[in-house]
Amino acid sequence: MRRRRTLAGPVVFDGVGLHRGEPCRLVVAPREGQGYLLARQGEEALVERLVTRGDERGTTLIFPGGARVQTVEHLLAALRGLDIDDVRLSFDGPEPPVLDGGSALFAGRLLEAGIVEKEEAADVYSVPLPLVVQWGDRLAAALPGRGFQVTYVIDYENPLIGTRRLSLSMTPSTFMDRIARARTFCLERDLEDLRSRGLARGGTLENAVVVGEGAILNPGGLLYDDEFVRHKILDFVGDLALLGCPLEGHFLAIAAGHDLHQALVERLRPFIVQGRVDS
Ligand SMILES: [Zn+2]
Repeated sequence: MRRRRTLAGPVVFDGVGLHRGEPCRLVVAPREGQGYLLARQGEEALVERLVTRGDERGTTLIFPGGARVQTVEHLLAALRGLDIDDVRLSFDGPEPPVLDGGSALFAGRLLEAGIVEKEEAADVYSVPLPLVVQWGDRLAAALPGRGFQVTYVIDYENPLIGTRRLSLSMTPSTFMDRIARARTFCLERDLEDLRSRGLARGGTLENAVVVGEGAILNPGGLLYDDEFVRHKILDFVGDLALLGCPLEGHFLAIAAGHDLHQALVERLRPFIVQGRVDS
């Protein structure tokens, strides 16, 4: 049995967001109650009670009164990846700081603050039956299984990204060692379009991999030759954290993205409500 985990003390993150480029102070604080409680512009709600929207560039949370926080996936991945169950997240801007473009700086600072166990056992939610969302040749699925297994397949036309598959048994140490540092990425040819739509304004070669026609544009190249599929797993873990509880099962994604992750989360949601003690 695993006990619920929170932080020993609050952690403050300052920086600009990936897409809006606006400054934000994010405070991640210990919480006695259960779950991820988010606060923005005077509104407060548990993550699983928020309306969520996934599109090709990220995941947005919408509060009942209309407040929003976008691009939450790298922050939520750090929390879920480290098996942190109960925290309050308050934002004074529209998007958490992008930091390193992955989850490593979030996770590193959370670990420095210290993680403490509570008395209560964590309600780990087990996938009860195979649930599949398929859109053409893109797919996301949740299958019954032991532990928290994640498999991702990417298939990009650009040969620098290419076709890759990675399957991991996710634990805090696997998350830190293999996933947390993988950075967000985009194609150079999409950058102008993104910027014209007000996106990627906080993106730099320090926090995002930019893939050109024949080369990676970042001076240091990639951190791993399969950094792209590692980052997709990071995004998937962050999006699955929207369910608000630790998960047991095998989670599979093929050529997916935030939109399809979100559709799988919606398929899983009714089972989670039934399966959980509502506090
Ligand atoms: Zn991402």
